[in-house]
Amino acid sequence: MLSEAGLRLVKRVFLSAAVLCPVQCLAAQPEAANLISNPSVETSGGSAPAGWMHDSYGDNSPVFSYISTGAHSGDRAVMITMNSWKDGDAKWFFKKVAVTPGRIYRFSDYYKASVLTSTIAEFRDAAGKGSWQRLGDNPKSPVWKRSEFTFTAPANAVGMTILHVIAASGTLQTDDYSLAETVPPEFKRAIVSIMFDDGYRSVHENAWPIMRGYGFKSTQYIISDAIGSATWFAHPLMTAAEIKDLYRDGSEIGSHSATHVRLSRLSPLQLNLQLTKSKTALNAEYPGVKGLALPYGDYDAAVTAAVRKHYAYCRTSDAGYNNYFNFDPYRIRVQYVLSNTSLEEIKGWLSRAARDKSWLAILYHNVDNSADDEYSVAPEAFAAQMRALHDSGLPVKTVQQALAEVRPQLPEDLSGRIQPEAAGFRKPGASSVPVGEGEKIIHAGPDSSNGPEAVGAVGR
Ligand SMILES: [Zn+2]
Repeated sequence: MLSEAGLRLVKRVFLSAAVLCPVQCLAAQPEAANLISNPSVETSGGSAPAGWMHDSYGDNSPVFSYISTGAHSGDRAVMITMNSWKDGDAKWFFKKVAVTPGRIYRFSDYYKASVLTSTIAEFRDAAGKGSWQRLGDNPKSPVWKRSEFTFTAPANAVGMTILHVIAASGTLQTDDYSLAETVPPEFKRAIVSIMFDDGYRSVHENAWPIMRGYGFKSTQYIISDAIGSATWFAHPLMTAAEIKDLYRDGSEIGSHSATHVRLSRLSPLQLNLQLTKSKTALNAEYPGVKGLALPYGDYDAAVTAAVRKHYAYCRTSDAGYNNYFNFDPYRIRVQYVLSNTSLEEIKGWLSRAARDKSWLAILYHNVDNSADDEYSVAPEAFAAQMRALHDSGLPVKTVQQALAEVRPQLPEDLSGRIQPEAAGFRKPGASSVPVGEGEKIIHAGPDSSNGPEAVGAVGR
């Protein structure tokens, strides 16, 4: 039974946020066994179902009944008729079951209620100390209605029960309870994409032959007004014909804007022009352009909104992995390879992506021996990195291919409009690891200028 202090706390937790799963993550979860015994309250223990109890506190007069008519399934259900309610609540609940801290559980029951009711998880630690997590409210319903909540067992929790409480004069019937550990959905498998920004000739000369050896297709983000430029950040860019070689080989061509400016600094008109002019020009030569990579990784809300109008996705320079819980096609995250990125780091990215079933987007610029340029990866290092990628066994896809694979796995409304991380949901095992931790964070950097003279700016 709950102590009076504990019961008061129940009231207080009504005001605090519980760790709840947003609606969209409830799809397609594998389900474990129901932890509740006698979950449909069919087995009688006398005036109550076997293994079930009831309780109330406050100024009210509840009548608890173990009914034999009108059950949701089988013959029996439990009912509370709350009379003369001034404060407090009343509930039926099952004998505590064992839980593991940090694990995710899903609770459901069926109810009929003449008033709004609430569902609260009650936990106990090894010392018998209670804690409560308010899971949410259940609207009144004259017919049997399913109520479902997903939550994380807190640190130190060893046991728990669920309180479906009535806290107003009226009636509440409940039946067919379920409490089971659950695993949040994730992508079906990890994917890796290899990306190159700016369209350097060194990619055609040095990187492509190595990738071709493994059958890897890359995604090339091209600055439409700079194709064939001899000195872009002191390096030559590919000609239209060289880009076409990659395109014909199966590389995806994406836009990297028309002139590689910081898009957040532009007027709406200029911004629109950077996005549309580059798309039109690139599509004329390499049909199928669907994505944009942000110059300098620079963006704000207006840039994202404009990109949405013209492109199917937006690749940022934000460090991280793309997974079920953070997925946003207009904020595709990357792992940035620089001249000093070690092979071990890259192997770490690959194993993390494999473990978490993430989509890992690896971003390169030059692949040449410009030792003084941090954006240049030596061909020997690139070869070792591609070998590690091959050895990982992970599928290598262009961005469009990766999107085509992951988007059908997501609910409709997870197209960048909902950010589950912001909703407070954390994947178990990654609960204390924010996206990007332990990874190289590349910021857009201070703006010294727009265009090729900005050599040395962080983020290119
Ligand atoms: Zn760039």
